[in-house]
Amino acid sequence: MNSIDLGGRHAIVTGGAKGIGRAIVARCLASGARVTIWDIDVGRTDQTIKELGAGNNLRGDMVDVTDPDEIARGLDEATAAFSKIDILINNAGSVGTIAKLWEQPVENWQRMLTLNLTSSFLCCRAVAPQMMEAGYGRIVNIASNAGKMATMNNAPYAAAKAGVISITKTLAKEVATTGVLVNAVAPGGTNTELFDDLAPEYASQIASAMPLNRLIEPDEVAAIAVWAASEDCSGTTGAVFDISGGRSDY
Ligand code: NAD
Repeated sequence: MNSIDLGGRHAIVTGGAKGIGRAIVARCLASGARVTIWDIDVGRTDQTIKELGAGNNLRGDMVDVTDPDEIARGLDEATAAFSKIDILINNAGSVGTIAKLWEQPVENWQRMLTLNLTSSFLCCRAVAPQMMEAGYGRIVNIASNAGKMATMNNAPYAAAKAGVISITKTLAKEVATTGVLVNAVAPGGTNTELFDDLAPEYASQIASAMPLNRLIEPDEVAAIAVWAASEDCSGTTGAVFDISGGRSDY
């Protein structure tokens, strides 16, 4: 593993209890950061904290990232515990119902927009002022290649992730001269429990559509996300880093 220097930095990772978020938490810790996990799954957060064995450098908080009041409380407590936030990684999200657009339950549309897009908007909105005041910050939004290529059978998720790309670019421009950089990472199919919610044939279709002919591993997504969260990422903002195993059908 190459080293990335996050010494002295405090990172919030949403959805950090498992999957891609957990890999990002582990890589941030290995890079010298202190990390706060915001996740609604208390059991998995506790398990991850125990397994990663990072002592006082890792804390968890049950923050539902769709709730602005919870975010405000979580931010106050994170700042009190580990000082100002240098890094925000908006990773919490889920894939929802697989169906044609006209068969999508309206409730799933609303849930996907809220969980995947509004959550990132709310966390960026809460944390950006603190970063601007400090004159330094890195925000990394985990989008999806679904947001770039408008994947079939998943319109609500794809629309939400396209929205994540859009707010990434907007915020990046708005804060560009303040020391705060905002980028997105767009993974293709990644080997996490998220796939447990998908029909096996849909999951294998995703893997075989990637020229690498395999799913991406969470650590591979973490490598890009944590680099984008570091000082080494200094000349890039409003970008969407692709990690889709070579998919180019968009
Ligand atoms: P996962 O289901 O393994 O983990 C998601 C985490 O988010 C869980 O710990 C869950 O408890 C947490 N979470 C869910 N709702 C939350 C809420 N309201 N508040 C706080 N935490 C919440 O998923 P994953 O595969 O690791 O995906 C992580 C991110 O990567 C998601 O945004 C997903 O859309 C994106 N992504 C995943 C893939 C993939 O193939 N796995 C591909 C592209 C993009």
